[in-house]
Amino acid sequence: MLDAAQSKLKPYSGPVSPFALPEIFIQDAFAKDDERLWCPMTPYSWSRPLCLNASQGYWVHLSKFRSKAGEESIVSCHRHPAPVHGFIIKGGWRYLEHDWVGTEGSYVFEAPGDIHTLVALPDQPESITLFHNTGALIYCDTEGNTTGYADVFTRIEAYSKHFEEVGLGKDYVKNFIR
Ligand code: FE
Repeated sequence: MLDAAQSKLKPYSGPVSPFALPEIFIQDAFAKDDERLWCPMTPYSWSRPLCLNASQGYWVHLSKFRSKAGEESIVSCHRHPAPVHGFIIKGGWRYLEHDWVGTEGSYVFEAPGDIHTLVALPDQPESITLFHNTGALIYCDTEGNTTGYADVFTRIEAYSKHFEEVGLGKDYVKNFIR
């Protein structure tokens, strides 16, 4: 913790709107990792919320992927009606529809209209990616038939249910909602 009294620098002390929302600050999401914060999403993926923006319809989260031992494992096939930004922090993964393999340090912009199948790789025991998702993910089969969807509200509900099950309480999710 920074000791403000020791700093000679003067912080802002002017007016602040009483309607401004508080920041979300998460100290080192890896060093202080707590398994309970990772919500299982599929047999091969877990999600840890960072910012769930209910008023603007986006969510920022860490996605963890682990493949089945020795084989490529499909996490999901989905369509994006709105843009996604992704940055791989650890490990890597690929899409069946693209010829690149994302690795540590890779950035991807998933353009609206993109449809892809995310695959966890057996040579990456664990990968972690920061995703900024807007709008929704529309899950589909390989022919394009819609099979489900996710948006900030289905995510809030999934995290809330998970946090209740692991003993953090259903309201713990509110720490991440703005
Ligand atoms: Fe995607």
